Amino acid sequence: MPVQVVSAEFLTTATRPQEWPRGATPEVAFVGRSNVGKSSMLNALTRRQKLARVSATPGRTRALQFFDVSYRPTPAARPRALRLCDLPGYGYAKVSHAEREKWASMIEDYLKDRDVLRAVVLIVDARHPPAESDEDAAAFLSGAGRRLVVAATKMDKLPKAKRIPALAAVERAFGLTRGEAVPFSAVEGTGTDALWARLAALASAEDEAPEPPTGA
Ligand code: GDP
Repeated sequence: MPVQVVSAEFLTTATRPQEWPRGATPEVAFVGRSNVGKSSMLNALTRRQKLARVSATPGRTRALQFFDVSYRPTPAARPRALRLCDLPGYGYAKVSHAEREKWASMIEDYLKDRDVLRAVVLIVDARHPPAESDEDAAAFLSGAGRRLVVAATKMDKLPKAKRIPALAAVERAFGLTRGEAVPFSAVEGTGTDALWARLAALASAEDEAPEPPTGA
């Protein structure tokens, strides 16, 4: 039974840790090269066609963008909260070295230090082998102890016969086992249920951990 999205809305942007939203809501972040299809994935996932773009106001597009989502894991379940964080796309060439360094430290601080962060979705283009920047991102995330979900998007651009081999190539490149990478297409609307299932499981895993003894 697919996850149902109850609501999804833009919350805030942040360029400094002081601006990260407070509270214990589990969070999932999305990273990928510029133009890989990250906004389209966020919109497909939240079923809000303009969610990721409306907040990308000029001048603030290099900030972290936070979205609040309420979802039901099954139709009868009570709604749960999940926060999504859209990280600036990497590999964007038209900026100075200093500017790029500034973003890198903003993103790395978040990925290292964010305590409510449950998983990071690394989005790659299904048609191409991972770029060096994708491999760097994966290495950084595993070094930071983050759970990684690799999503291969733009699957629709591949002929059907090439989709499974392309996905297998992505999995090999990231050292994943078969079936671990999530195939996705914002155009065909495929992959949202599979990605939601992964995110909901990761988000609730620690929610349902036993409470520590209260000492009573
Ligand atoms: P972002 O820069 O990573 O946020 O990428 P966008 O979501 O803005 O998408 C970049 C371009 O790729 C746009 O022209 C999208 O229409 C296109 N795109 C995104 N996802 C898909 C997809 O799944 N299939 C196809 N064919 N095009 C896509």
